[in-house]
Amino acid sequence: MTTTVAFLGLGAIGTPMARHLAGPDFTLSVWNRTAAKAAAFAASHGARAASSPADAARGASVVITCLPVSRDVELLLDGPDGLLAGLARGALLVDCTSGDPATSQRIAARLTEAGIGFIDAPVSGGVVGAEKGALTIMVGGDAALLARAMPVLSAMGQKIVHCGGIGAGDALKAVNNALLAVHIWSAAEGLLALSRAGVKPEVALDVINASSGRSNASMNLFPERVLTRAFPRTFRLALLDKDVGIAAQVARDQKVPSPLMQLTAELFRASHVALGEEADHVEAVKYLEQMAGGEIK
Ligand code: NDP
Repeated sequence: MTTTVAFLGLGAIGTPMARHLAGPDFTLSVWNRTAAKAAAFAASHGARAASSPADAARGASVVITCLPVSRDVELLLDGPDGLLAGLARGALLVDCTSGDPATSQRIAARLTEAGIGFIDAPVSGGVVGAEKGALTIMVGGDAALLARAMPVLSAMGQKIVHCGGIGAGDALKAVNNALLAVHIWSAAEGLLALSRAGVKPEVALDVINASSGRSNASMNLFPERVLTRAFPRTFRLALLDKDVGIAAQVARDQKVPSPLMQLTAELFRASHVALGEEADHVEAVKYLEQMAGGEIK
């Protein structure tokens, strides 16, 4: 017996995630806003290209969404082509968007009224982790619903963690990414200062990566993307800006003094505005370089 699954949102990370559901264990339909991407995916992976969110959801026991923000998912619910028109009672919506807790809670309430389950299930591990089926998936919502989603989630992820109620996955994901942003920005400041003080960035990273200041930014992102000036686009700066903004909001909602998170949100907002929608997250370094009037080299 295969599980009938729908995947909506074939973006940079959605596409490699959906590929793991195109095997013999699942009957897969895909939908994407730009229909040509769904058609191309369906043709090369033996899936069905759905004509609308409702069409994708019809007959599916698990529907996965992976869109930029929670509001995009909420906007797919209604109307004759909307998810609610296609989802059957007893079906489950798994939202892998790095979303915001308040919107996820609203979506969950709407679906519960219609007899449909919802969990927020944002992912980390990047495009490479998605390609390997090795994502970490952080889940908010009912543990019984997570158990139902497990066969689908374990096809895409390696570490699947129940974090708490609806929105807990979103909150944790946002805080994780706020830490990523802090590490990128602080490493850039440090390496710029050191290069002006006469220390080559390769030498600085060699020492930092054997010392207590190291991070994923210093160990991987800077050597592979900044020092090479390659800056590949794997995760848009616009999305990291959104994530840090969510983390800053979570901290404010919880009345936690969070000057560092609020400042990081401002810096990534400004970087996003300066560098545009298509810039990669690591390119925030270029915004600091512009302000400093020099490059890390
Ligand atoms: P992309 O920008 O690459 O893709 C976005 C996808 O959402 C596309 O399929 C796009 O369709 C679709 N989309 C955009 N707006 C809407 C809308 N209003 N209604 C319907 N569909 C829409 O994003 P990613 O794939 O990189 O990211 C998706 C989510 O995963 C985000 O929340 C992100 O923060 C998170 N994430 C991303 C990671 C990464 O490394 N890229 C890592 C971990 C989490 P179209 O093709 O028409 O543009």
